[in-house]
Amino acid sequence: MIIIFLGPPGSGKGTQASKMAKQFSIPLISTGDILREEVSKASVLGLKAQDFMTKGQLVPDADVVGIIQNRVKNSDCAGGFILDGFPRTSVQAQELDKAMKDLNREIDTVVFLDVAQDVVIDRNSNRRVCRKCQATYHLKYAPPKTANKCDKCEGDLFQRPDDIPATIAERYQIYLDQTKELATYYKNKLKTINGNRSIEMIEEDIKEVFK
Ligand code: AMP
Repeated sequence: MIIIFLGPPGSGKGTQASKMAKQFSIPLISTGDILREEVSKASVLGLKAQDFMTKGQLVPDADVVGIIQNRVKNSDCAGGFILDGFPRTSVQAQELDKAMKDLNREIDTVVFLDVAQDVVIDRNSNRRVCRKCQATYHLKYAPPKTANKCDKCEGDLFQRPDDIPATIAERYQIYLDQTKELATYYKNKLKTINGNRSIEMIEEDIKEVFK
């Protein structure tokens, strides 16, 4: 089972994709998480990516395509995998098709979380992330029990540097200009879900798709 989660930043892709990955016991591949890890290691790729990420811009296609080409060859992907945050451009989608063809595999379903701009701005600006275990919170709708502390591991919570208003607007514009059109590219595999609702309601609809 090979599933792509498509949607604007803050649509809840990461949250839903990680629930599905657990349910199907297949790896979740998030290019955002992989890139943040590279940044924290200060690797060559991380140092290059950091500048783009802080500004809310896309990391060059060649770099992210390289990450995915290597990752999907891993043996843990044999039973399927879920992509979160990739592809984001038509070049990335075409390169993914090539990689799948080389591996004799096919994308099954593209889950498109359709979310309004004001909802996305609210979710991103109120998002806080645990420094230790990367769990995410929403200050209004899913706050931690103790302010600024993770419920799961007591790690400190922080605001992603790309979750400030000007950068959120930039990321959303890039989504409109470069990523949204992928819904048309994948129209034969697309399952559109109304992502403006609660985590539980969206999860129910996604479960229905894969019943
Ligand atoms: P995310 O966690 O998916 O919101 O990604 C955070 C940031 O990582 C994005 O704003 C981009 O700078 C970078 N990034 C993640 N995935 C990609 C991708 N597929 N193509 C280009 N840049 C990406």
